[in-house]
Amino acid sequence: MIKLGILKSHGGKSSSKPMHSAALNNLGIEGEYTVYECLPEDLKKTFDELRKNKVRGVNVTIPHKIPVMSLVDKISERAKLIGAVNTIIFEEDGKSTGENTDMHGFWNAIPKEIREQANGKDVALLGAGGAACACAVAFIQNEVKTLKIYARDMNKLKAFKTELESKNLKSQTKIEIDLLENIDLSNTFILTNTTPVGMYPNSDSSPVKLEDLKKLPKGGLVYDIVYNPFETVLLKDAKSLGYKTLNGVEMLVLQGAESLKMWLKRNDVPVDVMRDAVVKSLLS
Ligand code: NAP
Repeated sequence: MIKLGILKSHGGKSSSKPMHSAALNNLGIEGEYTVYECLPEDLKKTFDELRKNKVRGVNVTIPHKIPVMSLVDKISERAKLIGAVNTIIFEEDGKSTGENTDMHGFWNAIPKEIREQANGKDVALLGAGGAACACAVAFIQNEVKTLKIYARDMNKLKAFKTELESKNLKSQTKIEIDLLENIDLSNTFILTNTTPVGMYPNSDSSPVKLEDLKKLPKGGLVYDIVYNPFETVLLKDAKSLGYKTLNGVEMLVLQGAESLKMWLKRNDVPVDVMRDAVVKSLLS
């Protein structure tokens, strides 16, 4: 019996439970995926209980992604790079490793032909929070020419840029920051939204005005990592203007599949089954 789960704050729906439960079922593995909800002040207690109860692994979401880094025994290079843990792996002896699979999910969700063209192009990123960091590192490591980051708070933007530059990613990528109200998408190859603007239940808003979106060159990709709803206002607008679009479902599925591979120590996890389960849960 394998015990998996997700460490999250109270409330909200989790698509990770149906996704991982469907995968275990498909693989014929007896196991359970439990939602562990805890307040920040109870994180250590909950973490100790997971270890004591021989849980094999958990996903970690906001607000625990950074605080949990001080509780694990080891932090992977990827998690160090991003500065957050979204996956914990417990070994038989109780030793734990903090990992991050968000960057893998984010980048690999982009269709291959677009990924391969990103090198040397300009991209824009909306938001300067946790998920934005994983996306920014992916763009920098893949040598985009300019990474333009837009958010609503200049102090946070400056701190975000300093943090990215301190990672010494040995890339030629130029990092530029500006307020969202000054967004300029001319020359942008991929626009990525990492703000929760447009996410359920506030699904009638978009982080980008239609007139700004129109400046995106033809052939550009609009990637909203929000997955609920499937098609945010931003993606609807982008589609109506003839751009390629991508929602956050594939990122969610691929980061989950990467976590599951590490927990089960096998590579043949059923990604299609996981995707179907996520879509079904989001539609229910
Ligand atoms: P976060 O750390 O709270 O960062 C959110 C960012 O959005 C911050 O820069 C925040 O700015 C900005 N923001 C929030 N409300 C805004 C508004 N009304 N207008 C403009 N900017 C606003 O959250 P996160 O972990 O990065 O997650 C962000 C989104 O990504 C969520 O919708 C989440 O569901 C999604 N996500 C998807 C996946 C996936 O697998 N598809 C994975 C991770 C996250 P301030 O700091 O100024 O508030």
